[in-house]
Amino acid sequence: MPNRFRAPGRVNLIGEHTDYNQGFVLPIAIDLACTVTTEPAPEWTVTSRQFGETCVLSENGVPGERKRGHWTDYVLGVVREFGSGRPPLHLTVDSAVPVGSGLSSSASLEVSLALACLEGQPIPPMELVRRVHQVETDFIGLPCGIMDQYISVFGRLGHAVLIDCRSQQSHLVPLPAGVEYVVINTMVKHALATSAYATRVAECAADAAALGVTSLREAVISGGRPRARHIISENARVLEFVAACERGDLAAMGQLMFASHLSLREDYEVSCPELDFLVDQAAQFPGVYGARMTGGGFGGCAIALVNAGDATAFEQTITDAYQGRFGRTPGVYRVTPSDGAA
Ligand code: ADP
Ligand code: MG
Repeated sequence: MPNRFRAPGRVNLIGEHTDYNQGFVLPIAIDLACTVTTEPAPEWTVTSRQFGETCVLSENGVPGERKRGHWTDYVLGVVREFGSGRPPLHLTVDSAVPVGSGLSSSASLEVSLALACLEGQPIPPMELVRRVHQVETDFIGLPCGIMDQYISVFGRLGHAVLIDCRSQQSHLVPLPAGVEYVVINTMVKHALATSAYATRVAECAADAAALGVTSLREAVISGGRPRARHIISENARVLEFVAACERGDLAAMGQLMFASHLSLREDYEVSCPELDFLVDQAAQFPGVYGARMTGGGFGGCAIALVNAGDATAFEQTITDAYQGRFGRTPGVYRVTPSDGAA
């Protein structure tokens, strides 16, 4: 009998691009997850159902040293970190998280793989988060924040998780009843997505230096710098959103989501026509409280907070509108705030 390990993707309700600025984020783990099954094997090997490929990662049981610019890089990074010195496994990956759409298929893959390599050996959850995050920054070479790995481990059914990325502490935020979280996938990923991410990380570091602070988390005035202005205002919006959540003020939550989108579009400049269209359409739909792009931007997904009774009609309307405008069928997922892997 093979063993199975599972870790969810996530959608960030608010707090975009704030994680690598040591700020606040408010993601939920979702009911789309990556599953890894393990079986003893002569070499470390991996099969991905989504990529339809099987690859060998080791020689004489020793995992390779280098990235190959291939989907298996994430697997190799995790195997090197968590599997070294133990007998090799064949890993079978099967994921419901759409790949490369901003719902963090990568972190759900990394966390489920790490658990698979550990095969039930206990690990403090925060150590798991830090080491998996390190695989992404050091081995993959993506200067990302800690949000994706954190929420994949610490998500909780019915809750969002307010993460302070400076202290790496978090607390659970119960979500109000009567709403649905509808994710709409543009089904595009613009070429700019990866390079612009690194550019924004560098721009934020430069703004922080110019403002005389160690990170934009510490900044209180932007000095007219649009990137800093987004981070400062977005951090404030996260905390206002949590307060609105706690008093069940769906209208205020929705307005903060629209404000977040505007700031990402105008000040941070990471949106794109497809995302702007989805958010504009959502704003015109009576049952929608709010909507915004979610994830890194330049494609990927938008999220809408929708009155429960109106969600089905909204999904149909937005699908038709997007098809009419871009000639492409969007992915639509109604997600449930779910438990993390821990
Ligand atoms: P996302 O927003 O989905 O996290 P990323 O670009 O960060 O997008 O990560 C996508 C990468 O993660 C893929 O190119 C692949 O290397 C890896 N990946 C994710 N899901 C799978 C899967 N089911 N099988 C194999 N590799 C996967
Ligand atoms: Mg990712």
